[in-house]
Amino acid sequence: LTRTVEGEVGKAACTLDKERIYIHLNAGLSADTSIAVNRGVDGVGLYRTEVPFLLQRSFPSEEEQTLQYRSILMTYRSKKVVMRTLDIGGDKPLPYLAIEEDNPFLGWRGIRFTLDHPEIFLIQVRAMLKASIGLENMDILLPMISGIGELDESRALIDRAYTEVAKYAQEQGETLKRPKIGIMVEVPSILYQLPALKGKVDFISVGSNDLTQYLLAVDRNNSRVANVYDALHPAVLNALKHIADTSRVLDMPVSVCGELAGDPVGALLLVGMGYRSLSMNTRNVARIKYILRHIAVSEMEQLTDSALQSTFADDVRKMATEFVDQRG
Ligand code: PEP
Ligand code: MG
Repeated sequence: LTRTVEGEVGKAACTLDKERIYIHLNAGLSADTSIAVNRGVDGVGLYRTEVPFLLQRSFPSEEEQTLQYRSILMTYRSKKVVMRTLDIGGDKPLPYLAIEEDNPFLGWRGIRFTLDHPEIFLIQVRAMLKASIGLENMDILLPMISGIGELDESRALIDRAYTEVAKYAQEQGETLKRPKIGIMVEVPSILYQLPALKGKVDFISVGSNDLTQYLLAVDRNNSRVANVYDALHPAVLNALKHIADTSRVLDMPVSVCGELAGDPVGALLLVGMGYRSLSMNTRNVARIKYILRHIAVSEMEQLTDSALQSTFADDVRKMATEFVDQRG
């Protein structure tokens, strides 16, 4: 079986009824980007820029960041790379920046931190833009957006950085492509503001890890309540379905980059809901491709319909596991 699964690496994820599912990579360490399996992915769906920040002893300079981002953009130069701006705080404290809070997951995290520190945000966005000079493959993704004001503020800063870097590029005789801008849909409030995103974002990316944490009010890393943290909770599944349906109506490109996308049952349910773009860790790519290539979308839709009507996560899990077992 391992050999069969490994044989999937270079193949596209085409379902039994010939629907193409786009498989992207979640990355954050340069080591992730050099593994052979990555040749077969459609791009990087989530580049977690905080990972290099976490590994250093102090804030990386604009030049250091530019080199890091350039390296990943060059590795995937013919494919999209979605670069997320710094998502520190919560479970990702920087060793050189103490943030003392009673509720870090509800506190100074992601975009909240960087908008309060526009100098850090501007350095990072300028580094991203400089890294993309002469290339066409970079998108920018904003984490932890809870309302439209944060998006507007971020866009204004990105515009400012763009003007500066475009001038610099011009002086070098180069051109600077304007990046597409998207937000993570991971704070539940945004579920009720999706129409207000229209015209303000080019795409959205669903962070099922945080969406599960915030919908169920359960710390994603606290082992005491690990039994409550369940992305197959019917409320979470219905929220994900709502996002899929609404983005289709709004004609807004959407993908899922939380752990659920790299989980066999999760991937089947997400495709059944209508998602066609999934982003996952390297280790899950071959397995998910294998599964998707051996099942028809119509079957996944049936499974999803039953899952959405379930009352308990355990029923969903049982139903989906039986389905996978039956299909061998
Ligand atoms: C998520 O929340 O689902 C996500 C992909 O982001 P992170 O795990 O980095 O918070
Ligand atoms: Mg998140």
